[in-house]
Amino acid sequence: MQRRKFLKNSTLGTAGILSAPLIASQASTNPATYSLPQQTTPIVLATWDVANATSRAWEVLREGASSLDAVEQGVMVEEADESNQTVGKGGRPDRDGQVTLDACIMDQDGNCGSVVYLRNVVHAVSVARKVMEETPHVMLAGDGAEKFAYEHGFPKEELLTQQSRKEWEEWKKTSQYKPIINIENHDTIGMLAIDHQGNISGACTTSGMAYKVAGRIGDSPIIGAGLFVDNEVGGATATGVGEEVVRTVGSFLIVELMRQGKSPQQACEIAVKRIVDKNPGYREFQVGFIALNKKGETGGYCIQPGFNYRTYSEEGHHLTPAASYISN
Ligand code: ASP
Repeated sequence: MQRRKFLKNSTLGTAGILSAPLIASQASTNPATYSLPQQTTPIVLATWDVANATSRAWEVLREGASSLDAVEQGVMVEEADESNQTVGKGGRPDRDGQVTLDACIMDQDGNCGSVVYLRNVVHAVSVARKVMEETPHVMLAGDGAEKFAYEHGFPKEELLTQQSRKEWEEWKKTSQYKPIINIENHDTIGMLAIDHQGNISGACTTSGMAYKVAGRIGDSPIIGAGLFVDNEVGGATATGVGEEVVRTVGSFLIVELMRQGKSPQQACEIAVKRIVDKNPGYREFQVGFIALNKKGETGGYCIQPGFNYRTYSEEGHHLTPAASYISN
């Protein structure tokens, strides 16, 4: 427990600050509400070191497209990358050998869409966007989500790659078929972006906890838990043990803290601290958040060391190791 040292003076929180001037709204009593100029400087940030994904999202923003297009196309890069075994094709399966995907997306108007337990379709985030745009619903699950995807032209594909199958077969030899909570086998991609109009959107996609019980859903497709965006304030997204994020409605909590005037960094730290405080019988687990406010300030914080996040702005690429609640 001596390791549980709270790092008060984080060096984070300054990466990716927008150069555009901000005008605090005269009419608002809310300290976190700002009027942005029509043209502002875009920024994208994502959980983990996913340079190809942030580069793609940045290109989309540079072309003048919306933050919604940017986050969708950014995370699609990871969904298609078979070597990334935590999202999309190549994701690690559940303990029965099925790869099941969870994803959600949220735009600047508070519209959102989500899919859970989606099989045989690579781009879960795009199916989530279709749910948002083409149905009156927010969330589709399982067979229904898969059928909906085919109806909207998504191809059927085997998601379990040889590599993931091989590792799963190895796991079965010693696992006694028990689902595990650990800090290695999961790394959801959450992405947040501001476009030239100053609008914020976010996306989150995952194959979930490796070797989970069949049917298990984590935080990633749950609006408010794995992702939340309020275009007046900012956005937040999570990675790590979804059960802990769901219990604290982590991303919503962070956005509400920013609404009350906390910086993205402070808000992420408070959310992580709350999760640790709610776990007196502390187990080794990983939970990390990233956040972005309307000013373009960013933050990231994690329970365990080892979490980093990428930003891409006019200043270029930055990989920032997130400070953590528990020091080495
Ligand atoms: N949050 C994901 C889940 O619980 C896993 C992860 O981020 O690694 O399904």
